[in-house]
Amino acid sequence: MKNAGFDLWFVTGSQHLYGEETLRHVADDSEKIAAVLDDDESIITRVVFKPVLTTSEAITSLCLEANNDNRCAGIITWMHTFSPAKMWISGLSKLNKPFLHFHTQYNRDIPWETIDMDFMNLNQSAHGDREFGYICSRMRLSRKVVTGHWSDSEAIASIAVWARAAVAALDARSLRVARFGDNMRDVAVTEGNKVTSQITLAYEVHGFGVGDLVAHVNQIPDYEISGLLKKYSDEYHVASDLLQSASLKEAARIEAGMRSFLEEGNFKAFTTTFEDLHGLAQLPGLAVQRLMADGYGFGAEGDWKTAALVRNMKVMASGLHGGTSFMEDYTYHLDPAAMAGLGAHMLEVCPSIASEEPSLEIHKLGIGGKNDPARLVFRAKTGRALNASLVDLGTRFRIILNTVEVIEAPLMPKLPVASVLWQPKPDLKTAATAWIYAGGAHHTSFSQSLLPEHIVDFSEMMGVECLIIDEKCNIEEFKKELRWNDLFYHINKGIC
Ligand code: MN
Repeated sequence: MKNAGFDLWFVTGSQHLYGEETLRHVADDSEKIAAVLDDDESIITRVVFKPVLTTSEAITSLCLEANNDNRCAGIITWMHTFSPAKMWISGLSKLNKPFLHFHTQYNRDIPWETIDMDFMNLNQSAHGDREFGYICSRMRLSRKVVTGHWSDSEAIASIAVWARAAVAALDARSLRVARFGDNMRDVAVTEGNKVTSQITLAYEVHGFGVGDLVAHVNQIPDYEISGLLKKYSDEYHVASDLLQSASLKEAARIEAGMRSFLEEGNFKAFTTTFEDLHGLAQLPGLAVQRLMADGYGFGAEGDWKTAALVRNMKVMASGLHGGTSFMEDYTYHLDPAAMAGLGAHMLEVCPSIASEEPSLEIHKLGIGGKNDPARLVFRAKTGRALNASLVDLGTRFRIILNTVEVIEAPLMPKLPVASVLWQPKPDLKTAATAWIYAGGAHHTSFSQSLLPEHIVDFSEMMGVECLIIDEKCNIEEFKKELRWNDLFYHINKGIC
C-alpha cells in the first residue's frame, strides 16, 4: 500500500546539446519509468516525475526544493543521455535528502536491425551514468546505486528497500525520544553521547523525572480504564478474574498515562528503567508492549539508542509481513547438536512478533521491588529474522546486525514472559564471537520483516557504520573489517 505521506522524486539529467526533440523523448521516457515505479505497490512512497534537468541552476533549485519539501523522502537520479557532471556539483553539495542513482536504460535490448547514431545519442546511460557516478564518488557522496532495466524485479526490489529506509530516515529527522528516568546505574552500552547522536542521527532525546509520567497516569479517568480492559479481553487470552484485579486496572492506567504523555509531547520512542519507578505501582510491561505494537520505539533501562532504532525499524517495516520488537539476548542453549539463543526481556517484548494470541498474565517479578506487573506472554513466529544493535564507540556510532532463523521452542511452562528462540547465522559461536568483537549490545531491535539491505541503506543515509554478521561471516575477515573501518571512519571526510 502506498504511504500517502511521502514522495520520491524521479529526476533525469541531460543537456541542451541534443536539441529539443531529443529532450522531449528523454522527458517522455522518464515520465513512463517514473509512472511504472509509482504504480509498483512494493515501493511504499509515491514516485513523482520531475522535469528533465539540463543546467546547474535548475539542478541546484531542484535540490533546494527537495530539502525544503516535507513530503520528499529522497530523490532518484538517472542520466538518460550524457549530462556533464560539473553541472551537478552545486546542487548535490546542497542536497540533504538521500538519493539513489538508478543506473537503468529506457530500452532493454539493443535493436540490432535499426540501431543508428540517433538511437545511440538518445540512449546513453551506459556512459552518462558513469560521468554522474564519477562526480558522486569524487564528492564522496553517500548514495545507493541500483543497476538494471526498469522492468527488472531485482532492481525494483532494491529500490523498494531503499524507499523504506528513506521514509525511516525522514521520520528519524523529527524523532523525539522520551526517557522516563535515567540509565540503569553503571551500565555502559546503553549510554551514549546525546549531542553527537542529535548531530549524526538527528534523534532528540528528552529526559523526564518519573513524577512527570505519574502525574499523567494519576489523571486517567475510570472510564478510560474500563475501555482498555474491554480491549484487553477482546485481543488477548485473559482469565476472567484477572479482568477484575486492581493490578490489571493499574496496568491499564499506566498505559493510558504513558500514551497521553507521549502524544502530548509528540514522542515516537521512549525508555523506562526498573531502578526508577517512584510513584508507579508496577513496572510498565503491558503498556510498553501495547505501545510498541502501535509503532512506538522502546528501550529498557534507559536505552534511548535502542528505543530510537526500534522506532526507525518499525517505520521501515510498516505494512510488511511480520513484526519488530525491542529484544535482549537473554540466555543460550549450548548443546553442540542444536545451539540457539533465547531472546526475551523482563516483560517488554512487542506482540507484533507473536505466533499466537498473546496471553495476558500477572506474575511476580523479582527485580524492581514493586507490585506484580501485567504482561503479554507468547512465542514468536518461526522463520527468517534479524537483530540489530546501535552502539556509541566514542568517535562514531556503529550498527551491527545478525541474521537469525527463529525456530520452534520447547514448552517453557514456568517462564512467564514472551520469548524467541533463534539460531544465529552462520552459527551461534561465530555470530556471538563477531558480535562481541564488534561491541554489539545485549539490547537489540529484532525484526521478522526487514532484510539486511534495509538496515544497510538506512545506515548509509544516516552516515553510520554498519557491520553484517550473516551466513558469510568469517571471524578473521571480520576482525580485519573492524580494524579497517577504524581507519576509514577517521579519514572518510578526506585528509587533503
Ligand atoms: Mn535489558
